[in-house]
Amino acid sequence: MKNTEKTIYNFLLNLTNVFEVSKTETELAQGLQETFKTFGDIKEFKIFLFDDVLNSLKDFTKPWETLKQDYLANILNSYFCSFKYNNADFIKEKDTLAFPVFDETRLTGLVYLKGNIKNKILFEILPLVSRQISFALQNLKNSEEMMTQQKFHKTIRNIAKIIETQYELNYIMPVLGEMIDSFITEHLIYVFLKNPKKKDYKLVWPNNCSDTRILNYLSVINQKSTAILEDGGKIGIFPLFCEGKIFGAIVAKSGLEKLNNKDTDYLIEISKQASTTVERACSYMKILEHATLDALTGLNNRHQFHTRLHSEIANAKRQKTSLCCIMTDIDFFKSVNDTYGHAVGDCVLKTVAKAIKKELREYDIPSRYGGEEFTILLPNTSLEEATVVAERLRSQIEKKKINIEDYRIEGVSSISVTISVGVSQYKNSMAEPDELYRSADGALYEAKESGRNRVIIAK
Ligand code: GH3
Ligand code: MG
Ligand code: MG
Repeated sequence: MKNTEKTIYNFLLNLTNVFEVSKTETELAQGLQETFKTFGDIKEFKIFLFDDVLNSLKDFTKPWETLKQDYLANILNSYFCSFKYNNADFIKEKDTLAFPVFDETRLTGLVYLKGNIKNKILFEILPLVSRQISFALQNLKNSEEMMTQQKFHKTIRNIAKIIETQYELNYIMPVLGEMIDSFITEHLIYVFLKNPKKKDYKLVWPNNCSDTRILNYLSVINQKSTAILEDGGKIGIFPLFCEGKIFGAIVAKSGLEKLNNKDTDYLIEISKQASTTVERACSYMKILEHATLDALTGLNNRHQFHTRLHSEIANAKRQKTSLCCIMTDIDFFKSVNDTYGHAVGDCVLKTVAKAIKKELREYDIPSRYGGEEFTILLPNTSLEEATVVAERLRSQIEKKKINIEDYRIEGVSSISVTISVGVSQYKNSMAEPDELYRSADGALYEAKESGRNRVIIAK
């Protein structure tokens, strides 16, 4: 092989290799810059693609950035026009070189190189190189679209799954926000719930929304629309319906440009799925109105806890016996959800509930107060005895290895959690039954404040 042939052969081989290994736009651009160094000292290598919506060129590795209207932008635009109207193969000026890239046969952008090209053989093979890079760009775009499609379907499936065991809107809605946010990465996502009495909207995910216009837009949305675009298309409002009435809305806000049709379509589908999920949750909630047990853990639910609290206090008063209340809260539970997913979180809740039940006597009354909080009423039990039970619970849960093999998380087969615990005893001076658990809750708060994974007795 002659030297030039060898150079070309090696260059094309390297090019193919870059195409194969590059998973992102940046990797591709950097890999190409290195490969082009075969022909000289390449200082800058950029790919610019034309955005039909904005009618301007954009750096392929930074699609969220619009090009500054400066000297470079003018040059790039003039190159782009030459490729478009004069079908130029490449443009070479001093230390810059540009050549076009295509999508099938349509001109989509250009490659821009800056540096001293010593080996002129590059100019001969540029049409071939241009075609190859065009293919690589197309491939990357296709595989990204496929990934987005896959993520979208996963999100839809996850939304449908949330309420297999969950039915509290206050829990479901923030989870929904997190799921959508992980899928729609280029816009800010907000989730609002409508207050049925006052008819205004309350932000439930994330913690704050500084754009006050959004609440104004929400106040005028009507029953029929599936998507409302405001602020020149930069804000999309997707109402959520349950039994034909709006109960909330998902809002997407773009920092730079209009929401594109694809994202809007995705958000319409997601809000439909969210509506169906919540509709199911609401009918579930109605069925559960008369239920006494919590669906996830099988313990008493909060409603039943309050019923039992009243009757046990009445018993204690009548029989002059001691009644205690233990309140527990799993430590850093949010990070279990965040690290391993909500399904693992649910598994932890079930396991902790089971462990609590195992440590109690038959006539003790464990309940799931809500989220990751459990209460236990201990009739006929002194404060000392209740403290022993609380301490035993704390240490048993700390020791427990929760098997999460079923969730197929790489490198993790089991996890552990700890609980903080507050204990209180009923006193005749308590004016309201609720004071018993509030007092335990105060002690629990102290346990959290003083370092977690401990038992504190209410004074
Ligand atoms: P701390 O130690 O202060 O208690 O921290 P924490 O992370 O446990 O407390 P925080 O109140 O911030 O988080 C509680 C989390 O519990 C947030 C919520 O998403 C989650 N959660 C509530 N209900 C459920 C449920 O039914 N299943 C799952 N997986 N998570 C739940
Ligand atoms: Mg909590
Ligand atoms: Mg907690």
